[in-house]
Amino acid sequence: MTEKRLGKLPPRYSFILNPYTDARLSKCPQCNALTKQKKFAILIHIDKWGLAPLGKTCRWCSRCELIMVHQDELENVLTQHFSSVAPEIIGNKYLVMGTVDMKVWRKGLKGPGPTMQDVLDHTADFKKYCSLEVDPGGWRFDS
Ligand SMILES: [Zn+2]
Repeated sequence: MTEKRLGKLPPRYSFILNPYTDARLSKCPQCNALTKQKKFAILIHIDKWGLAPLGKTCRWCSRCELIMVHQDELENVLTQHFSSVAPEIIGNKYLVMGTVDMKVWRKGLKGPGPTMQDVLDHTADFKKYCSLEVDPGGWRFDS
């Protein structure tokens, strides 16, 4: 195995970053079940900044263990978060790496918070990245 892992936890969940603002994904693109809203702590790598854990409510299909994030929402959150901390990195490339254990992430909300090592010890990389593609027949799932 040459695969490089970031988080120490075993990889879990599949991930879609949805670039289409008119697709709100109330149904899972893979199994067609209704999706739920669920809050996750996601770990994002941002160019020229590094890693940033971020709390985000995502679309979630429990059957497929699939997390869906709307790109426009995510970028709004990033812009808000970084406009005071590091406005120069807004617009940089980023990649959502995985999910952080909620308990560890919540520590960061009050008090000094976890160290980055602490975060990585409780991070699970995504098993799989999927993408949505539009075709005339509607949404097609592409993996
Ligand atoms: Zn599904």
